[in-house]
Amino acid sequence: MRILIVEDEKEIADGITEILKMEGYTSDAVYDGEEGLDYILTGAYDLVLLDVMLPGLDGFEIVKRARAEGIDTPVIMLTAKSQVSDKIQGLDFGADDYLTKPFDAGELLARIRARVRKTADIKGSTISAFDIVLDSSDYQLKKGDKAIKLSKTEFQMLECLMINKGQILPKDMIINKVWGFDEAGDYNSLEVYISFLRKKLKFVGAKAGIMTQKGVGYYLGGGDE
Ligand code: CA
Repeated sequence: MRILIVEDEKEIADGITEILKMEGYTSDAVYDGEEGLDYILTGAYDLVLLDVMLPGLDGFEIVKRARAEGIDTPVIMLTAKSQVSDKIQGLDFGADDYLTKPFDAGELLARIRARVRKTADIKGSTISAFDIVLDSSDYQLKKGDKAIKLSKTEFQMLECLMINKGQILPKDMIINKVWGFDEAGDYNSLEVYISFLRKKLKFVGAKAGIMTQKGVGYYLGGGDE
């Protein structure tokens, strides 16, 4: 799960980053509107936490432009308490939810879970897809009573495939989600990790498997196709 934080108050952005990290989410933070929009348009994020008052472009404009470009990533707007009309305006422009600042960690995490649950079967720290379960608390891949530990990279890659099960994910998108934009990720590394994951799926006896869509990318299939 990769979350984008667009928030110009660095202290708040850092605080959110810490909270997300403790919960096992990977996040990137950007501090101005234009950069925020650029990052959202990559489609590499599973969720966006978007401040309203930002230098460059404001949060409403960002969500409006992202939706106009066909980006359907869930967006939770972060609004100041005084801006009551923000809520309605944000939702009108295509935001999915809003959170009034200041908020506590529990409230933030509850809202995040509520948004991502719509695309995947996420209960507490586990995600299920087809016959496999992935646990973010210990990076274990499980099928029935068999389990195997994954590395952080393997975990992030499989999580991304499970959240989007059945959907073909382009190679570049997986690379961006797993390695981010600043780190080195390439097609060779991607293929290496895909083969590690296939071995581990086989080890636990999963019917679910990582399928190759030639020339495009990969998807998680249930084993029945
Ligand atoms: Ca702000």
